[in-house]
Amino acid sequence: YWAKRERNSYCFFGQEMAEKERVRQELRADLTRALDGGQLKLHYQPIFHVRSERLVKFEALLRWHHPERGLVYPGEFIPLAEETGLITAIGDWVMKEACAEAATWPQNVGIGINLSPAQFRQSLPFKIADTLQKSGLHPDRLYLEITETVLLQSTAENFALLEQLNSLGVKVVLDDFGSGYASLGYLREFPFHEIKIDRTFVADDSPQAQAILDSVTQLGHALGARVTAEGVETIAQLERVRGIGCDKAQGFLLGRPVAASEVHKFIRLDSAPDVIPHRVSSRKS
Ligand code: C2E
Ligand code: MG
Ligand code: MG
Ligand code: MG
Repeated sequence: YWAKRERNSYCFFGQEMAEKERVRQELRADLTRALDGGQLKLHYQPIFHVRSERLVKFEALLRWHHPERGLVYPGEFIPLAEETGLITAIGDWVMKEACAEAATWPQNVGIGINLSPAQFRQSLPFKIADTLQKSGLHPDRLYLEITETVLLQSTAENFALLEQLNSLGVKVVLDDFGSGYASLGYLREFPFHEIKIDRTFVADDSPQAQAILDSVTQLGHALGARVTAEGVETIAQLERVRGIGCDKAQGFLLGRPVAASEVHKFIRLDSAPDVIPHRVSSRKS
């Protein structure tokens, strides 16, 4: 009985793996046409200053409108784009598109874009300078989000690149802090403008996760960085990150990623703070 069951579950597992691999191969092939076919779109998720409850910036998040499969999320296709090298063209497009869009927003609203490891090369500062110039976006409105994995390779060169980006006047952000390895080393090597604490720490209300959230916020502040809490989904979580002293918050509670045509909803709220939907605390810290 056990042997049979094991064999069955092994078979089932094998089939599932094969199916996943087939979908991957198909998506990989389809992806080559996605960019030129206009199937890639950017959505924008608002990020708020916790204390004033005002909009600070949006994060640009890729969406793929697949002709047969519908909406495909970046978790599924960014790895494929990275494997195939398509990420370079896609990343260039994201940068141009997001900066051009942000240039139409009020001057005090910033834009965050995510960078893949493959984009992290010598030509990056030139590309960014060029995009800023063409879009007319002021450098201090651009936030470049990089994860720990970006920095894993050839650290000395990468930190030199970060310095170059810094001198362009753009803001370099460490994304998903705490989800990878050796983060403290990066913090020692480079003065990040902002640290985004991974949403797993925000979602978890255990004393351990809270202690980490608290300490990372203090650490960020001690290093002169702003601290953003990712993935705020509940009022309790917002209260917690407010109490801990996080500077900014992002999450479904405050606003889901929206199409470019809908960002004005949040921008208007910013200029009329008394109608912000989640005014959860009258206590001002
Ligand atoms: P990320 O940079 O950490 O972006 C935040 C992700 O968390 C987004 O997922 C966002 O939709 C999601 N999120 C925001 N608030 C909440 C919340 O309250 N609850 C939950 N459960 N999730 C929340 P998304 O859009 O699926 O993107 C996933 C990842 O894909 C991003 O993580 C980023 O690493 C990557 N990515 C997205 N767009 C780009 C891009 O243009 N270029 C590159 N290289 N990577 C991108
Ligand atoms: Mg990000
Ligand atoms: Mg993140
Ligand atoms: Mg993430």
